[in-house]
Amino acid sequence: MSEVRVRFAPSPTGFFHIGGARTALFNWLYARHTGGKFILRIEDTDRERNTKEALRVILEGLRWLGLDWDEGPEAGGEHGPYFQSERSSIYLDYLGKLKDKNRVYEKDGAVYFRLEGERYVEFDSYKKCEVEKVRAAPQVIEDRVRGRVERAEDRDFVLFRRNGQPGFHFVNVVDDLTMGITHVIRGEDHLSNTSKHCELFQALGAEPPVFAHIPLILKSNGSGKMSKRDSGSLVEEYQRRRFVPEAVRNYLCLLGWSPKDDREKMDLEEIIELFDLSGINSNNARFDEKKLSFMNAAYLREMPRERFGREAWDYLVKAEALKQEGVDVSQWTQGDRRYFEGVMKLCQEKVRSIEDLPRFVAYFFTEDYPVDPKASEKVLKKGSPGARLREVRAALEEVPAFTEEKLEERVKALTEATGCGAGDYIHPTRLAVSGTNVGPSFYGMLCVLGKARVLARIDRFLQSMEPVPAAG
Ligand code: GLU
Repeated sequence: MSEVRVRFAPSPTGFFHIGGARTALFNWLYARHTGGKFILRIEDTDRERNTKEALRVILEGLRWLGLDWDEGPEAGGEHGPYFQSERSSIYLDYLGKLKDKNRVYEKDGAVYFRLEGERYVEFDSYKKCEVEKVRAAPQVIEDRVRGRVERAEDRDFVLFRRNGQPGFHFVNVVDDLTMGITHVIRGEDHLSNTSKHCELFQALGAEPPVFAHIPLILKSNGSGKMSKRDSGSLVEEYQRRRFVPEAVRNYLCLLGWSPKDDREKMDLEEIIELFDLSGINSNNARFDEKKLSFMNAAYLREMPRERFGREAWDYLVKAEALKQEGVDVSQWTQGDRRYFEGVMKLCQEKVRSIEDLPRFVAYFFTEDYPVDPKASEKVLKKGSPGARLREVRAALEEVPAFTEEKLEERVKALTEATGCGAGDYIHPTRLAVSGTNVGPSFYGMLCVLGKARVLARIDRFLQSMEPVPAAG
C-alpha cells in the first residue's frame, strides 16, 4: 500500500475549537500509527476573516498539543503552497481541466460544475421559482466511521463565486488531489459535502480518498453541539488556564475513540500503537469537563518534580498569580528558591490544577493568610481546641529538628499521654498554621513551614481565640 497522507485543513477564524483540535489529533495519530505523513493546510480563501493572528492561534494550539506536521506552514514540503490563498494558479489550472471535459458553465457571473444526468424542472416552494434539477447517479461512500452512505446530488454547484473567489468544495478537492491525500478524516458536519467532493474527484479522473467522518462533540448536558461560546470549547482557554497539554490531548483522544477496554489514562506511544479508524465511535461524544479535570490532576501528580516546579514558578512568580492572593512575591523570591521547591514538592500530589495553586499555597508565603470561616467553625466547635493547641505547641517545641517521623512520633506520644485522638491535635493545628482544613500532608506541611513559623502561627492563633485579658 502506498504511504498514508492525511491532513488537517482548518479555516482560520480566530479560534481553535476543541472539535478542530480533535480532528487534527485523529489525523495526526493515524499518520503516526501508519508511518504516514500529517499535512497542515490552511483553508483561507475567505480573506476578510483571515488574519495572521488567527493563524497563530491554530499553530500555537497545535504545537501546545504536541501535534507536529510533516508538511505545511513553516515546515514546507513538496506539495505547497499550503495556504489556499496562494494556490490560485493551481485552481485555474484544474478549472481548465474541467472545462476541457465540458463540466463547467457560467451563470450570473458564477462558475458552475455540471452534474451528469437527466435534467428536469421542479418548482421550489421555498424559493418560489422553478429550478433545474439533475438525476445524477448516487455516490456511494464507504465511510470508515459511518459505514455505507449513499447520496445523490441533484443540483449543479458553484466552483467559482461571483466575486471571483474559488468555492470551498472545489479548492478542498483540488487540494486533496494535488497533495496526494489518501484519507480524509474530518468532522461529521462535512459528511453532507462528500457526495459533491466525490463528483469532483471523478470528473477530474481521480479515485476519491478514503473518508472517515468523526462524530460531533456535544455539550456536557447533551443539548447540541459544543460551540465556541461554551466554556471549555477553545484550546486557547486550556493554554491560558495552564492545563497540562498531555492531559488535554489524552482526553481529546477519548472523545470519540477508545482502546476497547476501559483504560483512559494512556501513554501517547500506546495510543499511537492502538489508534485506528475502526476504533472511532460513530455515536456523538459528550464533553465532560470533570473527566478532563481528573485527567489533568492525574497528569499533574505524575509529572516529574522539576517540571511541576517550573510550571508553578512560571505561573505563581513570573505571571504573578500569587499577587492575587495578597502575597508580595518580591519579598521571598530574593533568595529562597529552596523553600519554594519544598512547598511545590509537598503540594504536587494534592493540587488539582496549576490554576488552583495560588489559593492552595498562598499561606506558605505570607503571614497574613485568611482563616476560612467555614473551616474554622467546623474545627473549633468540637472539644477544647484551645487546650489541645497549647498542648501540641508545647510538644512541638520540644522537637529539636522537624522531620515528619519525629513530629508524628511526638504527636503520638502526646495522644497516649492525654487520651485525646490525633485528630484533636491535627485539625486545630492545621487551621492555625494554614487557615484552612484542607491541604497537603500535615507533617510534611509543618516540616516545610519550619519550626519557628509553626510556633509563631500557633501563638498568634491562640491569641486571636482568646479575649484579651484585662491589664493589671
Ligand atoms: N476548512 C474546513 C473546515 O474547517 C475543512 C474541511 C475538510 O476537512 O475537508 O471545516
